[in-house]
Amino acid sequence: MSVDCCSNPSDQRDACGCAIPENTVVTHCPQCNTKGSTVELETVKAMVANLERVQPTSYRFCKSPDCDLVYFAEDLSHHFVEADLRERVHQKHPDDGDILVCYCFQHTPNSIRLEMADGRTDVADRITALTKAGRCACEIRNPQGSCCLGNVCQITRRLVSADNVTH
Ligand SMILES: [Zn+2]
Repeated sequence: MSVDCCSNPSDQRDACGCAIPENTVVTHCPQCNTKGSTVELETVKAMVANLERVQPTSYRFCKSPDCDLVYFAEDLSHHFVEADLRERVHQKHPDDGDILVCYCFQHTPNSIRLEMADGRTDVADRITALTKAGRCACEIRNPQGSCCLGNVCQITRRLVSADNVTH
């Protein structure tokens, strides 16, 4: 069978306008070409405001800050931008201190910054403890559908190095 995408009569198109063969799984964001991480359907259902547009299909999450597309179907039949969601997405605004980074326990970059007034915070340890106790709900609360710890640690590291620069 030919894999020449441009000769396929399918009406699905990739970023360059080529037709995509049916049953193709697209792993990269059709808008910015960043590799999308797999995300459970449950997460997409929890995040998208109007479920009439959500299909029982496989979705990926685009974390690029320069792209407003958040979820795309792996068959590229449709996608959702941040305005379609019920939450603002931290990854799309990494420098916005008021957007949640921990969606389960309600931490923002600014709340973490406040905690770090004395140079340190145990926020990551607290999140870890609550998660271990089975009290998180990342798959339905966090737009990325997984634990926020990596993002939280990135923020604390950035705050520490910023602190080192200014003092
Ligand atoms: Zn994207």
